[in-house]
Amino acid sequence: MKSSARVVVIGGGVVGASVLYHLTELGWTDVVLVERKELTAGSTWHAAGGMHTLNGDPNVAKLQQYTVGLYREIEQRSGQNCSIHMPGGLMLAGDRERMDWLRMAQARGRYLGMDMEIISAGEAKRMFPLLEEQYFMGALFDRAEGHVDPTGVTRAYAGCARQAGAEIYQHTWVSDLRQRPDGTWDVITDSGEIHAEHIVNAGGLWAREVGRMIGLELPVLAMEHMYLITEDMDEVAEYNAATGHELPMGLDFDGELYIRQEGGAMLLGTYEQACVPWSPRETPWTFDQQLLAPDLDRIAPSLEIAFKHYPALADVGIKKVINGPFTFAPDGNPLVGPVPGVRNCWMACAVMAGFSQGGGVGLTLARWMVDGDPGEDIWAMDVARFGNWASLAYTNAKVRENYSRRFRITFPNEELPAGRALHTTPVYDRLTAHNAVWGASFGLEHPLWFQRPGEEPREDVTFRRSNAHPAVAEECTTVRERVGLTECSNFAKYRVTGAGSADWLQRLFTNRLPRVGRINLTAALDPNGHIVGEFSVARVGTDDFFLFGSQIAEAHHSRWFHGHLADGVRFDVLGLSLVGLSLAGPGARDVLQSVTGASLATENYPFMTFCRIDVGMIPAYVGRMTYTGDLGYEIWVAPEYQRALFDLLWQAGEPYGIGLFGFRALMSLRMEKMFGTWAREYRPIYTPVEARMHRSLKLDHDFIGRAAVEAEQARGPARTLSYFDITPDPAEPADVVGDEPIWHGGVVVGWVTSGAYAHYSHRSLAFGYLPSELAVPGAMFEVEIIGQRRPARLLPEPVLDPAGQRMRV
Ligand SMILES: Cc1cc2nc3c(=O)[nH]c(=O)nc-3n(C[C@H](O)[C@H](O)[C@H](O)COP(=O)(O)OP(=O)(O)OC[C@H]3O[C@@H](n4cnc5c(N)ncnc54)[C@H](O)[C@@H]3O)c2cc1C
Repeated sequence: MKSSARVVVIGGGVVGASVLYHLTELGWTDVVLVERKELTAGSTWHAAGGMHTLNGDPNVAKLQQYTVGLYREIEQRSGQNCSIHMPGGLMLAGDRERMDWLRMAQARGRYLGMDMEIISAGEAKRMFPLLEEQYFMGALFDRAEGHVDPTGVTRAYAGCARQAGAEIYQHTWVSDLRQRPDGTWDVITDSGEIHAEHIVNAGGLWAREVGRMIGLELPVLAMEHMYLITEDMDEVAEYNAATGHELPMGLDFDGELYIRQEGGAMLLGTYEQACVPWSPRETPWTFDQQLLAPDLDRIAPSLEIAFKHYPALADVGIKKVINGPFTFAPDGNPLVGPVPGVRNCWMACAVMAGFSQGGGVGLTLARWMVDGDPGEDIWAMDVARFGNWASLAYTNAKVRENYSRRFRITFPNEELPAGRALHTTPVYDRLTAHNAVWGASFGLEHPLWFQRPGEEPREDVTFRRSNAHPAVAEECTTVRERVGLTECSNFAKYRVTGAGSADWLQRLFTNRLPRVGRINLTAALDPNGHIVGEFSVARVGTDDFFLFGSQIAEAHHSRWFHGHLADGVRFDVLGLSLVGLSLAGPGARDVLQSVTGASLATENYPFMTFCRIDVGMIPAYVGRMTYTGDLGYEIWVAPEYQRALFDLLWQAGEPYGIGLFGFRALMSLRMEKMFGTWAREYRPIYTPVEARMHRSLKLDHDFIGRAAVEAEQARGPARTLSYFDITPDPAEPADVVGDEPIWHGGVVVGWVTSGAYAHYSHRSLAFGYLPSELAVPGAMFEVEIIGQRRPARLLPEPVLDPAGQRMRV
């Protein structure tokens, strides 16, 4: 065994083997993989090997597409048979909502070049004669679905990696990990020690235990999962003989099951409601290529549906039942990337669909390690999307919810109940008393909208406009015409202090730093000129700053800041040690002025001022800015003052007709003002030139990514963020939710990033990216919303107050 290596990958399942392969592909060949038993000994060996490209997140779908396309290559290069079967797959819908969902999935796939087709139940029956047509309305057929041999694939990755110089040590257990002061690692195994620059946790079923070796409690939980294989069936043999090919795979949403041909038999797996976590606290090291006891009673409800939907199954014996564990993160997506706060430590775990995702996980992680950038938008898989609130018990609740909803629709306006309400601010009870309908983001509860008094505070889930629509319209009117109050604690807040802070930030940010007492907006870029983050920067001293950013990116952004930290500079994540309320609307100044001695007249407190003042008796930092685009203020206080602040403002606002507004109204109001948002319009795959962040780009100073920006400005951006006015279907109006394709001249030319109904302007608006040459004001496009191509006109400027007067009065 080597005593040192550049990288030690811990775990020889399909994911670890893929990481090893991709590292060698990118030229890192001094790499080793350490496996406690044999390759595939975790959850990999007993997997059903199914693979597909479809995913709720198009960026993950793209990586799944990559994975599925990789198998032929590694099979050929390694000489290891992967038993690749590509019969295509049918996603079978039993009701109208599922058909809508399939249409949306098909639409999302279009701009990724995915070739998927909506077919009738009759056509589905012709392709898959085992099904009973009466139970289905139609299906989505995807040619790029199939299955592989899990062991063959893992060995093929390993074989290619070995050919390139990687070494694999089986029967070698990593028992401890110790970091040296220089950030390198001593990997302690039962066969000796390896000194490594980097470690990768691809421990699968034991990823949590590997994490604990370095004091991490990863949000990962294993669930039991069952599939069964029938005896050989005459119907299968007849189909194969008649068509000359295998039956397509089936995904039956109503039955919460998947079904496919296995040899001359059928394989049927379920995601049952009565799901069971496995080893919820600790995975035993003694578990080794074992299966769990089958429990057919648990999956009986799905089997009953299966026997109705595929009657031939009821008459055939069961040859084998497999029950095995595999791991999930709380949202079902993998945990990939560098661990915040731990140098040279990388995650490639919680991969619940290793044969759809393993290749993409390996590719992006290897790029991240070698190039410093994953090269794709892997936001949905970033290990930094969870905070400390994702405890063991939270993970358990969320994973069970996720497993049991695997084949259920999650509507765009749906908030899932598990693990709620866990993380709240002091005004939670006050807002609840005002009939708030709550959502959760990055674990924190935040008000979505306020139900009318006396009515139940709940939102009907739908792809179209919900029961929230009229109430949100009223909230928007309150803001635009009087004054609205909302909670704004759900920003990430950071404080940067210490000698040299200004110089440090200036090097990171595209905009000039504001003067003391002022705020401005800025972007931060990577060296290739991609957007790493988007922040409001408030300066309270020469070397003293508050930064406000997207809350869901708090761990992601703080990892980046810490990775660039300069000597003498202190970077603190403020979390809920600073909470906020925001006043917005023409009456905002009058309300706030009535409770503070500081003069808020524009000449004394102009737009984009940020100062420490008292509000009533409460010490506060008050920024004159709003995301609604109105005259307004964000008032930041220590949490112990937030209730008093709420009461004070609420009372002071009564004469001015104050009302509460929530996140839904905020999203509607910001659309009218053409304000983009992080994770939608601004993401690491876009550049600030494409995203038209011109006002935040000042090329008079040096900053990371500047050369790339200049080069892009010189040649012109390939694509441009665009703003659309959409004409919804008058019979059944629906607005965009994001990821809809944009059509022009009969072809898909771009995609929607986000949108909303702009209540105050009575328009359905959307943002999306287009090839720059098409981004011409006034040009007409079509946006595909739930299977309908709706007219969309490209607008040159915000539909409301394009000159920005409202904010400056
Ligand atoms: C019944 C069933 C059916 C499935 N069907 C499908 C399917 O059809 N399609 C699909 O895509 N996915 C399927 N899966 C899921 C799939 O099995 C997983 O996504 C995949 O195996 C995850 O691979 P992994 O490499 O992350 O983890 P694992 O396979 O668990 O590998 C982790 C490896 O790390 C090793 N290890 C851990 N700790 C250490 C240590 N300290 N030292 C050394 N070695 C260590 C382990 O021994 C193990 O070999 C199924 C799972 C089950 C249970």
